[in-house]
Amino acid sequence: MKPFNFLLTCYADQTYGRGEDDRLIRLVASYERKPARWIRLDWYDTHTGDKHRITTHRTGSQGAIRVKSYREVLADYRTHEESKSMGPDGLPCTRRTRGLLGRRLVATEGRPMHVGKESNSIEARMRGEVESEDEYLNRYEPNQCGCGCGEVVRGKAVYASAAHKQRAWRQRLRAMRTRKLNQGQTLRPMIGS
Ligand SMILES: [Zn+2]
Repeated sequence: MKPFNFLLTCYADQTYGRGEDDRLIRLVASYERKPARWIRLDWYDTHTGDKHRITTHRTGSQGAIRVKSYREVLADYRTHEESKSMGPDGLPCTRRTRGLLGRRLVATEGRPMHVGKESNSIEARMRGEVESEDEYLNRYEPNQCGCGCGEVVRGKAVYASAAHKQRAWRQRLRAMRTRKLNQGQTLRPMIGS
């Protein structure tokens, strides 16, 4: 397989097409025009570079990885859950959901922030080399103070000043006490006047 050539890919079976680390094996092969030859090509795991044979029969074998047939891909597509919509009952869709779908509600946590498109480093992300959102997401607004005051902080600073850091710490402590009270635990009584 030469770099920058066209290539083929196929989809490993969810159950039987897994590598040693339980990762779904992703296979590519040199481009071949005739579908009848696909089953006999040398396929390569994009993760390890190992060469494999493929099969669409049963569970596969030691020498051949079980991949999905067109029929299976189509069958999955016909009944896959629509994750972006709500069912008529207002609940997330399942394979059994029927009827007119509605929009899912989106709840924001905190203040909205302007971010870039999510396709940065997409190949590295598909290879699993980049996982943290911070490594690929562009944020177009400066960071704000961690105490929630709304003040802008520069560089890698989390708080606007030491006083803000203390305020955030007190807030966390208060939240922790409230949680404990809600859980029915008693706080240590205050000693003194
Ligand atoms: Zn602050």
